Amino acid sequence: MNDIAQRQSPLHRRSKGGYRWEGVDCLPYKEDEQARFKAISRQVLFSDPALAAELRFFEVAPGGFSSLERHQHAHAVFILRGRGQCLIGREVRRLEPHDLVTVPPGTWHQFRAASDEPLGFLCMVNVDRDRPQLPCDDDLSNLQADPRIAAFLGNAAEKV
Ligand code: MN
Repeated sequence: MNDIAQRQSPLHRRSKGGYRWEGVDCLPYKEDEQARFKAISRQVLFSDPALAAELRFFEVAPGGFSSLERHQHAHAVFILRGRGQCLIGREVRRLEPHDLVTVPPGTWHQFRAASDEPLGFLCMVNVDRDRPQLPCDDDLSNLQADPRIAAFLGNAAEKV
């Protein structure tokens, strides 16, 4: 077996259209009763030990959102489809296709789709990474003290 054959990923995965790819499982996130995330799916497109990175495609359904979290690893995000908003640290930003977002280490972040459009994005991340930390009550109060962040988090924050 040569080096190429030992790699986990095949050399070419064809797009099946609709933001799906051959041989890539689409894993719907379960919505937990605490609504830490809602209506989001994950596909791992590349995971290569030689690169030490993974490239994932997340799709947030209209009105859905990712976990509000922080961790020591960083994210590099490329918006592929749809519209929405993100919280990065204390910044709330509108997102459009082809925007780029960097999430630095230790920075609170969340992605939310618009109410009438999905939000699909590529996310590059380390293969080896620390577990996300969720906000405690004090963290949430601190974030919500900013009215723009409170508006961004909306009702979902109350359930975390
Ligand atoms: Mn994250």
